[in-house]
Order: sequence, then structure tokens, then C-alpha cells
Amino acid sequence: LHDRDGKIWMDGQLVDWRDAKIHVLTHTLHYGCGAFEGVRAYKTAQGTAIYRLREHTERLFNSAKILRMKIPFSIEQAEAAQIEVVRANQLQSCYLRPLTWLGSEKLGVSPKGNKVHLMVAAWAWGAYLGEDGMKRGIRVKTSSYTRHHVNITMTQAKTVSNYTNSILANMEATDDGYDEALLLDASGFVSEGAGENLFVIKDGVVYTPDLSAGALNGITRNTIFHICADLGLKLVEKRITRDEVYIADEAFFTGTAAEVTPIRELDRIEIGRDHYVGTRGPITERIQAAFFDIVHGRNPKYAHWLTLV
Ligand code: PMP
Repeated sequence: LHDRDGKIWMDGQLVDWRDAKIHVLTHTLHYGCGAFEGVRAYKTAQGTAIYRLREHTERLFNSAKILRMKIPFSIEQAEAAQIEVVRANQLQSCYLRPLTWLGSEKLGVSPKGNKVHLMVAAWAWGAYLGEDGMKRGIRVKTSSYTRHHVNITMTQAKTVSNYTNSILANMEATDDGYDEALLLDASGFVSEGAGENLFVIKDGVVYTPDLSAGALNGITRNTIFHICADLGLKLVEKRITRDEVYIADEAFFTGTAAEVTPIRELDRIEIGRDHYVGTRGPITERIQAAFFDIVHGRNPKYAHWLTLV
């Protein structure tokens, strides 16, 4: 990923991709105090558009606030930087990665005295969990790792360090032959995937864990809330147990990278009933289609969520 042509926005200017470097004594590299976003831009009939840029940028600033970091740019400047990066790299559809981190002025746990930096990179990135998974569903394993407790790391912040837990869970699941991990909270209730929010459907009602289970307040999760309202589907945020997932009619993951990915198995138990056991469910398919209509600019109701670059 590092050795290629292109431009990356670093602290206010575009630099050549290969020159976007930092020092080995960077505070964030040692202690993990940093925050980032995952954003996508899609090709629409009007041109390339960044999806829910304001919400992602606000979450980045809120993550920094939770970490007591002051980003030395405004939300508007950070938005402009993201637009600039998509343009400069002439991308039609892509994934964007803004990240804020602490500099290398000083080491020691206290970050005081370090500069706060901001960068934005963007590159083409297809279906996160595979094209096949989007149609047939993926195979998921309940992780042996517990998701963050709400008062150990801060779960409403998309922090760099929160992802060690995600990496451990994802590696364990993929080493065991699964596509992704599902993590439970410290009380044993379903929290989220390593990089996705979870939804289950039972008797026509859509359920998702409430945020007290330590799940990130996903922007795609919020999009699903709107889609459910539009489709006349009741949506309930509540505590969910792993066996509720086993006996659900349908289940899917959501995320900027994962988009809407159906889940066909949890712990080798096939999810679903009738003709759709162990594959994508019919309501999931409708939600998925509605999602792709919105992000590709085919639903005028949500045109305000698209920022043309
Ligand atoms: N949970 C975790 C742990 C994630 O990494 C992500 C991806 N950012 C999500 C949920 C989904 O969030 P969003 O829909 O805002 O991308």
C-alpha cells in the first residue's frame, strides 16, 4: 500500500504518497492514542460523492475529544481535505482514511507537549468481506475475546488502540476458517463484529445491540435505521444474546467497509429458515438493495448525505 503513486493530505498539504512518513518515536505508535475514520465515496450519476462526510468528520472530532486531543483544523477544513484527496487521486469510488495522531516531540505516557497531526489517504477498495459474501452471506464465529468494556477503553471513540481487540478477534476467527468474528461484551451480550455492527431479524422485526454493549455508534447502523423506517420495518435496540442470533431468521453486519454483509452462519449454526437457511435472507436483501440505492445516489430522499467531489 505504501509504495505507489498518488497524493496523501498531511497537516494541511498534499504530499507524494511515498513521502507521507512519520518518525519511529511517534507517540501514537508507542501508546496507541489516536483516532481515525473509515469513509467511502461512491460513483453516482452526478459524479463521485463522499457518503455522509459530515457525520464521519464529526465522529472523528468527537473521538479526538474523548481522547483529549485537539485537532488543529476545523471540521470544514477536514472535510475539504477529504474532498481534495479523492480529487487529487482521481478516484471514482474509494475508501478514505482520515487519522489523527500525536507527534514525536516527546515520549512517556503523558502526551502533553506533542503536536496533534491529521492526515487523509484514499484508495480503491472493493467488498470488504468479499463479493461472494455479499450474496451468500459470511461465516462468523463468536470470539473468545471480550469486546471493550464501556469504562476501560472508550467505545464511542474510533480509536487506534481499540483495534488491537478487533485484530485479535479477526485473526482468531480467520485462522479458524471463518470470515469474521462476533464479539460479546463483558456481561456476555452480543456487542459487534471486529469492524462491523450487527443486526438480526426475527419475525419481521429488526434488532441491533444497544450501544451500552460497547458497540461503535456506526454511521451505516444509523443508515439502516432510516431504511427500516422507509420499508415499514420495526427496529428495536436491545440486549441480544448469542443464542438469539442462532435462532434469528436473518442476520447481517454493517459498516463503511463491510457495507451490508449478510451472515449465513454463527459458530457453524446455519441462520435462517425455509428456502434461505444458510444464505442471504429476503429482508436483508431488501435492506442491502436500499442501502446501495442510497449510497449510489439513486434515492433522492438522501441526496443530502452525498457530497460531490
Ligand atoms: N464497529 C466497529 C468496531 C467498526 O470498526 C466499524 C467500522 N467503522 C463499525 C462498527 C461500523 O461503523 P460505520 O458504519 O460508521 O463504519
